[in-house]
Order: sequence, then structure tokens, then C-alpha cells
Amino acid sequence: MIPGSMLPGSAFPDPTTSSGTATPADALLDVRGLRKVFSSQRLFSPKREVCAAEDVSFRLSRGEAIALVGESGSGKSTIARLLLRLEKPDRGQIRLGGEDVLAREPRRASLKYRGRVQMVFQDPFGSLNPVHSVGHHLIRPLQRHLGLIPHSSALRTRAGLWTRALELLGTVGLGPAEDYIRRYPHELSGGQRQRVAIARALAVAPDLLVADEPTSMLDVSIRMGVLNLLAELKREKGLSVILITHDLASARYLADRILVLYRGRLVEDGPSADVVASPAHPYTRALLASIADARVAGSTPAAGAKSAPKAAVSSAPSHQGCPFAARCTERMSICDHEDPAARPVGARMVRCHLYPAAALPAVAAAGVHA
Ligand code: SF4
Repeated sequence: MIPGSMLPGSAFPDPTTSSGTATPADALLDVRGLRKVFSSQRLFSPKREVCAAEDVSFRLSRGEAIALVGESGSGKSTIARLLLRLEKPDRGQIRLGGEDVLAREPRRASLKYRGRVQMVFQDPFGSLNPVHSVGHHLIRPLQRHLGLIPHSSALRTRAGLWTRALELLGTVGLGPAEDYIRRYPHELSGGQRQRVAIARALAVAPDLLVADEPTSMLDVSIRMGVLNLLAELKREKGLSVILITHDLASARYLADRILVLYRGRLVEDGPSADVVASPAHPYTRALLASIADARVAGSTPAAGAKSAPKAAVSSAPSHQGCPFAARCTERMSICDHEDPAARPVGARMVRCHLYPAAALPAVAAAGVHA
């Protein structure tokens, strides 16, 4: 990778455009500067604000899979809810196929938008209605989105809807489909339910599938089957996928790029293989150290990282410093008072003072979102 050039879908601005504001033609999703703050107040307690997403920017190409990775509370699910328009961002922009999604009234736009962006939820037991059959779960979205589904004339009859539901079951590997279509959720295993949930999401022919921890409630033995199904849909149907997970091994297996979140901010964004083999940000290294995967056990810091003068670490970080400073083993004095900006490091974006601006490629000076 040429230093400073842009990965497909990278968070970096395109250096060939004057301002970096144009959306590349192959970008399906272009997210810029998303911010979401939740506030809560209990009786006799001061108001408390939690920043769930701060300056989140990334792009996703058609047929690409990215993984949003971070520990619980890092903001992964909030970003998914913002993308699905289940929450309204305080600031930022979401473009789908070049169209400014947030410029439309949510109610008017929701049916069309949700036809293009579908969600697979974490809990396959809770996401299916126990009183409805598998066939009902697949036919209902077909009826609801009829006008938005390509080549939908065949779906105007009951026989056409039934045939399409059988096809969907075949697509997600539940066959013979006739054996499943009349069953109820309690007659299925966890893996089979998650496949039905994926089939339901595919019914409206979406461009983008947001999968929120789709395997975390499944037995280890059937997780791989669901990940393989998502990989196959991406490869063979050109489906774009956002995988939300705390599991770097799953992210490495499915995603082309990994975006690491800490306290609502992207701290590292790069090709999956590079991020796992050579994590640049100390938080990514901490995440990797926490999983007992032999393939990543020998990870080494990325080339170019300057060594951290650990002796300089002393006081607790101020609110203006790096949010990870209190947990960082490589903290420096600058980390306590200066929040690091997002900077390109080779083919990646990293927010960390270990990668000083002076050592960066020339494109950094052109203006990375920060
Ligand atoms: Fe650690 Fe400093 Fe980098 Fe923050 S900026 S992750 S405290 S080295």
C-alpha cells in the first residue's frame, strides 16, 4: 500500500478531491462526523452525559464487510442504531448511495431506507415472534415492501410469496425448505433461528446488512456456520455487511476492514489482516491480548510506533487528554493534556500520540478528520 493512498472505504478523505467531501462512486455508505450524547438525571443527582459516538467517520463499499469492534459500552450498538435511524445523531452525516439520509423526514423515508438497510439482531430467540410460523416471518416483509422489491410482480399472488419464502430459506441453507416453512420458532435450534432472521432481512433485497453480535448467543459449534453464511452472501450476492462484535477473531474471519472503537471514538481503522497481525493502537493490542487465539498471540506493534517513555507517566489524565490514558501502558506526558487526532499510518487511521504528525506521510497535512 502506498503511504497516504486511500483504502476502499477508508475514513480518510480522498486526496484526489479538493476538500475530501465527495463520496467515491463505489461507496455505498459514507458516514461523517457522527456524534451522539445521551444524558440522564436521577433525583437529587447532577445531570450526567455519556458520549456514545464522537466524530465517527467511515466509508463502506458495495460488497465490502467491515467490523466495528470494541468492548461493551464502546458505542458499537449506538452506531448501529444511528445507521438504522433508530436514534437521531446530534451531529454528522450519513449518505447511502450518495443520498443524504438525515435530510429526509424519518417517517417518510423510513420504509424505503429500511428496505435498503436491514438488521440482524443478537438474540435469535427474541427477534422472532413465537406465535408466527417461519413462513409468516418471511412473507410479511415481502408484502410490506412490495413496491420497493425489484421484479416484485411475481409476489402479488399467494403462490408467488410462498415460492419466494422457500427460495429465501434455501439461500440461508435451511433445506429442504418445505420442512422449515411451517415450523414455529420454538421448533428450531438457535442457529436455525438466526438463519431465519437473516432470511427475513434478505427478503427485501437490502444493500446493507447490519449484524449486531449475530453469533454471540449461539453455541460455539454453530457460530462458524452463521459467519460462513454471511461471507457467502457478501461474496455471491455482493451484499455489504457491517458486523458489530467484541470478538476480534470473528471480525478477522468475516471483515475486510476492522474499525476499533473506544468510548465512542474510532481509534484504529485498517485492513483486518494488518490490524490483527500488527495492531497499531494500544487499545487494539489490549483487545487482542484478551483473546486466547493462537493466530494472534504473536502480534507485534505496528512499524513506525515510537517507543513510549513510560517514566513520563504520572498524573491522571485531564478531560482534554487521551480517553484511553488511564488504561494505557504506553502513556506519555502529552497524553494527559492533548487528545490525539486521527492520523494516517500507512494504510490505516490511528488516534494515538505514538504516531507523531512529523513522521506521517504528506497526506496527513491535507486534513484528516479529527
Ligand atoms: Fe496511550 Fe497516549 Fe496513545 Fe492514548 S495517545 S493510546 S495514552 S500512547
